Amino acid sequence: MTTETRLRIAMQKSGRLSDETQQLLKRCGLKLNVADRRLLAHVTNTPIDIMRVRSSDIPGLVMDGVCDLGIVGDNTLEETALERILLGEKAEYVKTTGLNFGGCRLSLAMPEEFEYQGIKSLDGLRFATTYPQLLKRFAQENGINIDFCLLKGSVEVAPRVGLADGICDLVSTGATLEANGLKEVEVIYRSKASLIQSSTTINAEKQAILDTLLPRIQGVMKAKESKYIMLHAPKNKIEEVSNLMPGKETPTVLPLAGRDDLVAVHVVATETFFWETMEALKVLGCDSILVMPIEKMMG
Ligand code: ATP
Repeated sequence: MTTETRLRIAMQKSGRLSDETQQLLKRCGLKLNVADRRLLAHVTNTPIDIMRVRSSDIPGLVMDGVCDLGIVGDNTLEETALERILLGEKAEYVKTTGLNFGGCRLSLAMPEEFEYQGIKSLDGLRFATTYPQLLKRFAQENGINIDFCLLKGSVEVAPRVGLADGICDLVSTGATLEANGLKEVEVIYRSKASLIQSSTTINAEKQAILDTLLPRIQGVMKAKESKYIMLHAPKNKIEEVSNLMPGKETPTVLPLAGRDDLVAVHVVATETFFWETMEALKVLGCDSILVMPIEKMMG
């Protein structure tokens, strides 16, 4: 246990996860100044320091107890853990909560002309990848032999320049694969960003900061997924209206001044609220339907 009383959080300095991570921390009420080039940014209104590093360094910093928390993609986390286990290094961490950004999949992709006939048709082939451990695990689980070459970037050009038969890389829309004449043949891992915590015991001061921060992070995540819905509904249709509402929250039903036939229905929807649902509500005789974003939620 250290005597340090400022909680240290590792986040990606720049890249696909950095903006959303920064926004998440700001929505939790942390005032951070990351405009400068410093590795360690101080949060000015809470005893928290933000360590801004490369994504691939985050799991190790948390596993070694250098940082108390980290926000990183599951893909990077799992790859690092497998690599460390292989090297006999410390690979423990606690996955505190999954976050709803950074969604992607680690996939195998082959040149368009390749005749894919199931996983066995990949046996003996060579793949360019940044994720050799996840690739090796997939090959082992599926009883095939796969060779790999390690590339840290521009993986998708490898087949074209004769470096590999295919690639094992992160995909979100598939547009990069298509632009490089590749097709996705297998998804080997699905990933999102996660908040991870060091398994090292922290002191009481840091624990108190953590106990305030975690519910806020969960509150921001929940608010992001939720919508506040308000509408006017015929009094005799409340049950049908409630059944149409996404999520499991019970609606609040309020009287409307001067109207015996209509009531106001308010509900927090914790799932996506589709246009189709609004149209179905209209058919039931509802109107003034408002769908609003929620900024914060607690309890
Ligand atoms: P760094 O440069 O910080 O070491 P990186 O090269 O993995 O890391 P990014 O390309 O910014 O940096 O990706 C960061 C993370 O974003 C990935 O590890 C993954 O979890 C997530 N991600 C989401 N969508 C994609 C995508 N389409 N391609 C790559 N990563 C994605």
